[in-house]
Amino acid sequence: MLNDVSSCPPDEPPASCPAGPDREFRSAGRGYWSDVSATDWNDWRWQLKHRITRLEQLERLLPTLTPEERAGSVLANHKLAMAITPYFFNLIDPADEHCPIRRQVIPRLEETQTAAWEMTDPCGEDSHSPVPGLIHRYPDRVLFLVTDRCAAYCRYCTRSRLVSNAAGYDFHPEFDRQIGYIESHPEVRDVLLSGGDPLLLSDDKLGHLLGRLRAIPHVEFLRIGTRIPVFLPQRITPALCALLRQFHPLFVSIHSNHPRELTTEVRDALGRLADAGIPLGNQSVLLRQVNDDAEIMKVQVQKLLRCRVRPYYLYQCDLIAGSAHLRASVRRGLEIMESLRGHTTGYAVPTYVIDAPGGGGKVPVSPEYILSRNNNRVLIRNYEGRVFEYPEADDGRPLFQAPLAIEEPQLV
Ligand code: SF4
Repeated sequence: MLNDVSSCPPDEPPASCPAGPDREFRSAGRGYWSDVSATDWNDWRWQLKHRITRLEQLERLLPTLTPEERAGSVLANHKLAMAITPYFFNLIDPADEHCPIRRQVIPRLEETQTAAWEMTDPCGEDSHSPVPGLIHRYPDRVLFLVTDRCAAYCRYCTRSRLVSNAAGYDFHPEFDRQIGYIESHPEVRDVLLSGGDPLLLSDDKLGHLLGRLRAIPHVEFLRIGTRIPVFLPQRITPALCALLRQFHPLFVSIHSNHPRELTTEVRDALGRLADAGIPLGNQSVLLRQVNDDAEIMKVQVQKLLRCRVRPYYLYQCDLIAGSAHLRASVRRGLEIMESLRGHTTGYAVPTYVIDAPGGGGKVPVSPEYILSRNNNRVLIRNYEGRVFEYPEADDGRPLFQAPLAIEEPQLV
């Protein structure tokens, strides 16, 4: 049942949004759902059943809904459905129309505007798909799409052509054919389960699928890409963790973009996964007016480490149709990387990548630290901007004499 904000108990307010990034872990609280029993609230199936999916619900919960959001919510069902778990909804600041949580999950009218360079399949996945639901783009690994459903829908989703089925893609994974392909390709040593969100499968179905993949002798390594720990931490039950730990080596990549998403509930869910021996990484998408800020990103990566999650990738937003309003510049991304490297723990620094449009794969992009080099020396700068020379080794022959100076530095 939905409650008025004013009825929230004082210890569980709806998301309060401190000025600036919040370093502390806070509960999302019950907020609008304060009279729901703890049993229901902590039941992931209850959360899914009570998602916000309709404009009338949004209007009731968010009196500050803007005309752009209202129009976007009406049109979303023809592009990428709207769905927000009650838990995640409580992280939205109802008073702030620019709330970084709100921008990620509430549709906006701008989604209907497509720039000339935007695409419905920006990573060229469909052209690298030998069987439905399987993408084989890199030599030794495949992407295995498990479902087209997610706990909530990200407005910038690179797979929005198929996720939620609002656009009529009619995605039907065929597990037998997907597994058969892997069995007949011994070069595939790494399988990444994604979707949609694989952790939406029941424990039984997920265990069965992981078991079949683990039984393929040349599959060395399994991965799951999921945003469930962030959208629906209630799903990370002890039973799920006990199931997953049977399939090691199994890595999990989560998807969190903003420090406010890292609540006590999320921290505890991630702790359960880590306690099950699962190495955890995070993939963030650089998003305009969400996390395109050096201070926000620094707090985000530091909080991730405290959750035992290694920041893995920072993605430049793919050229998905209707995402221009959420796309930050590469220049801004490079500035953020510059502000992290050397200024915080190395483990906290993700790799910034652009997924090359049309299917070229991930290309790492980085601020330039090599100023010039020749056969004798490398000229480098550090995070403070100080310049150093490093003698270049002559491969196969130890270097004992001072190498020649760089006379005409060649910019690389
Ligand atoms: S959780 Fe992942 S697959 Fe689902 S909508 Fe978000 S980005 Fe897309």
